[in-house]
Amino acid sequence: MSQNKTTTCCYCGVGCGIVVHKDIHERITVEGDKNHPVNKGMLCSKGMNLHYTANDKSDRLLYPEMRYNKNMPLQRVSWDTALERTAAVFKALIKKYGPDSVAFYASGQCLTEEYYVVNKLIKGFIGSNNIDTNSRLCMSSAVVGYKMSLGEDTVPISYDDIEIADCIFVAGANPAWCHPILWRRVEAAKQKNPDLKIIVSDPRKTQTCSLANVHLQLNPGTDITLHHAIGRCLIEDGKIDADFIINSTNGYEKYRSTVFSTSLAEAAATCGVTEYDIRLAASYIGNAKGFISMWTMGLNQSVVGTNKNLSLINLNLITGHIGKPGSGPFSLTGQPNAMGGREVGGLSNLLPAHRVLANENHRNEVEKFWQIPLGTIQSKPGLTATEMFDELNTGKLKAVWILCTNPLISLPDVRTAEEGLKKAKFVVVQDISNTVETLKYADVVLPAAAWVEKEGTMTNAGRYISYLSKVTDAPGEALADSEIICRFAKKMGYHGFDFKSAGEIYNEHAALTEGTNIDISGLNYEILREKRAVQWPYPKAEKALGTARLFTDHQFYTPDKKANILSFDDRNQSEALTPEHPLILTTGRIRDQWHTRSKTGKVNKLNQHISESFLEINPVDAEARSIKNNDIVEISSLRGNVRVKAKFSEDIKPGVVFMPMHWGKILNSDLNRVNNLTNNLVDPQSKEPDFKFSAVEVKLHQKV
Ligand code: SF4
Repeated sequence: MSQNKTTTCCYCGVGCGIVVHKDIHERITVEGDKNHPVNKGMLCSKGMNLHYTANDKSDRLLYPEMRYNKNMPLQRVSWDTALERTAAVFKALIKKYGPDSVAFYASGQCLTEEYYVVNKLIKGFIGSNNIDTNSRLCMSSAVVGYKMSLGEDTVPISYDDIEIADCIFVAGANPAWCHPILWRRVEAAKQKNPDLKIIVSDPRKTQTCSLANVHLQLNPGTDITLHHAIGRCLIEDGKIDADFIINSTNGYEKYRSTVFSTSLAEAAATCGVTEYDIRLAASYIGNAKGFISMWTMGLNQSVVGTNKNLSLINLNLITGHIGKPGSGPFSLTGQPNAMGGREVGGLSNLLPAHRVLANENHRNEVEKFWQIPLGTIQSKPGLTATEMFDELNTGKLKAVWILCTNPLISLPDVRTAEEGLKKAKFVVVQDISNTVETLKYADVVLPAAAWVEKEGTMTNAGRYISYLSKVTDAPGEALADSEIICRFAKKMGYHGFDFKSAGEIYNEHAALTEGTNIDISGLNYEILREKRAVQWPYPKAEKALGTARLFTDHQFYTPDKKANILSFDDRNQSEALTPEHPLILTTGRIRDQWHTRSKTGKVNKLNQHISESFLEINPVDAEARSIKNNDIVEISSLRGNVRVKAKFSEDIKPGVVFMPMHWGKILNSDLNRVNNLTNNLVDPQSKEPDFKFSAVEVKLHQKV
């Protein structure tokens, strides 16, 4: 008899609902869940093909493996042996070098319950804050931006607001390719309301621009100047909300003088766009009843990422477009559970339920809840993603446990990160399949259950907590990530990890949110199974149905309840261009691949879209270097080089080149890996890397 269960897509931050059918041979097929509030039955190409990755177990890790020293091959061992050895090494390192000698590097693809137990283990029991995730690489600038302006890391709107907005400003994002189902909702809204105005700012003319009323093809790194210029026009035209500014914000006067310190002509020249287009964009925003600013990596992945976020949120604040229907700032998350990870405190500077690590009362609340001695949780933030690999290089960090991510493709300046893993005393890799690049350095390999093989929850880009059913058993001896962590914690001798199910972990996490801004103490698996997805907060006391829109009373989470309009210098701080490296490299996703291709790379249909890495280059830059379309080119930076085919495109500005982020080593060569080139600069506030701006040169390697 076949069986149907509901779950959530494991790819992007849109968080679509899926119905999974399992036949008597344990083969699964998928379709969009018509009852899910996010996608209402729709799926994109990646979601539609999820069954291929779930059914194909050819490269799955099936058994724990271990090597007894760095020169020996990995060999199969029992779970007890693998975890006892790991616990013995961790105990010895902690005893000799202290708790900060070990670290966990996790992923925005982990389920909330998994994040919760890892965070509890390291912060509450090992006594270090050395946990960070690959979410640091995609949304940490938005987190800091929200906290500074609104007083809390929160997306104020719901997906339904998209359908009632009459102006959407898509800044540094290509949702038509990277958040396709969300974009289909925008397309449907535009069809219904042809007056819906769409502004896109991006140095590349992407698929998203096909719906744009105006495309501001700005120079990389000039976003703040552009947002300030739009702010200036709104003020000049009297299109601001004076009552809202006076009653509900701080900082307007300073902002006003900041944006007026640059003339519109100067701003237009800096950004490489026309004054007319800036005024047009401002008029669309100024005349809108509902205005949504929507952004992702183009703003976040920058050395000034936090300020880019703040400068865009400022446009919502000066126009009063927040807490109203069809209005608000809306950062898109790249990964399916980047937001859930933050809810349980899964970054090196956070505590559960968005509590603040530096706040002693908050630390004590968590310590009491976890029944550990007061003073166990350290106040100093732990190492962030890039810092972990830097400290492996210096030798201060001795051991790293990598869960569900492939850092040797995804980290910036990746050859330096690889040197760090080579120097590490001990590396644990916990994953579903053989991530060749990273697995090579593992001392212990732990096989994990994949999507549809475990139960839990994730939170998408719009605060919707969505449920995932277990549909089928994991192959071999693979276990759910949360069970692996709990078994290890017990081998370390810690109490508080005797969970019998993912549901018990969820209930503990939900109880710990009670009384906070993200209270979900009224929400349980039963409600989630029925409703599929619910937006937090969902407090017990109010029997609420979830919270679609925040700040409807214009009271913010800051101490004086006012939002902050913040001002700062608009200059970019990225790597300087030089005569040796005069081109700007920007990196990103393509439509049918996901992260490091460990899942999507196995699906022929998805590989047919774009089958290999490439360099997108404007013909003007190519011809100046005697490069023809499809020639193999060598791209070099101060860090390293790569060789891929050149693809001519008028859609990218001269002076800028683009490479996709997905490819790693092929046939023992790492020359497809774009992060050989990227730099190690990070935003000083969010610690998010500057993936969108590296100085490079391109030369002909081999003629087509
Ligand atoms: Fe999955 Fe994102 Fe596609 Fe939805 S839009 S099906 S969440 S990849």
